[in-house]
Amino acid sequence: MTDRPVFLFNSTAERAAVFGPAFAADMPDVDFATDAAAVRPDDVRYLITWTLPADLARYRNLEVVFSIGAGVDQFDTAGLPAHVALVRMVEDGIIRMMQEYVTMAVLALHRDLPAYLGQQREELWSALPSRQASGRRIGFLGQGMLAQAAMERLMPFGFPLAGWSRSPRAVAGVESFHGPDQLPDFLARTDILVCLLPLTDDTRGFLNGQLFARLPRGAALVHTGRGPQLDAQALVSALDDGQLSAAILDVTDPEPLPAGHPLWRHPKVLITPHVASVTQADTAARAVIDNLRRHRDGRPMVGLVDRARGY
Ligand code: NAP
Repeated sequence: MTDRPVFLFNSTAERAAVFGPAFAADMPDVDFATDAAAVRPDDVRYLITWTLPADLARYRNLEVVFSIGAGVDQFDTAGLPAHVALVRMVEDGIIRMMQEYVTMAVLALHRDLPAYLGQQREELWSALPSRQASGRRIGFLGQGMLAQAAMERLMPFGFPLAGWSRSPRAVAGVESFHGPDQLPDFLARTDILVCLLPLTDDTRGFLNGQLFARLPRGAALVHTGRGPQLDAQALVSALDDGQLSAAILDVTDPEPLPAGHPLWRHPKVLITPHVASVTQADTAARAVIDNLRRHRDGRPMVGLVDRARGY
């Protein structure tokens, strides 16, 4: 028993094996704990978790909940007192992996990989018409941390880049759009659409038939946001009638898709099992410790969620 503040860790043993020593070395006045049953609930000031525990109310002195992942849509925040800060994971590993994935997916679509995979299965050797990067317009739904990091990687290829967000954003070298009024113009100039929006009430079902119809015919989709943002039936229809040429999906709803779902074997679809970017324990431990220092010094934390906005 102790009066020292407790950081309660609710994630995998592999991650705990990295976070524990990092806390011991760099945050020695906070007790790092992985066993909720072994701590006094009143000592728990900080919690890191993927979802909120059912017995959250017992932590009466809780100050901060850290998400172990980049999104916070999985939290049911109804039971989280307003004074408790909610912080999403912002760390170098997540950023680097998303840069890799989006670059891979955009290049795969730009260079017609889904169509060539289909041709290979048919033992067909046939060059498709190609386009230069300068003529392939990439558009990001969301201009947040991950979208901007991915844009930075794509820029040297020479793709014309644009982004769309809720509020105005100025990103060097990127044509920026914002708000519902500017969405049609953004979509009309986008050949490869990359979704990096958070899941909120406003973005659920956002990737639908109406949106696909506003893209130039033959456009393609990279979906690395959240599964419920996509109307899967609308995507299948848009692919089947040629409005969209291909899609690369890292997220689906549900995950995994049920056996026999039309997206599983669709010739124009590549699916990865929500692996675009994953929290990396070493860089995440450093980021959380840095954020905890900020909180304890009264400085703003990185990734603080605006709970009214939902992200
Ligand atoms: P972020 O920094 O919070 O950026 C979110 C962006 O979306 C902002 O530009 C925001 O606009 C925009 N946005 C939110 N709601 C909007 C709306 N209704 N209309 C227009 N724009 C809207 O988030 P992030 O760190 O880049 O992460 C984005 C999402 O990626 C996460 O929420 C998560 O769902 C997803 N993700 C997926 C994976 C994966 O492995 N597949 C991994 C990590 C994250 P403002 O700029 O105006 O605020």
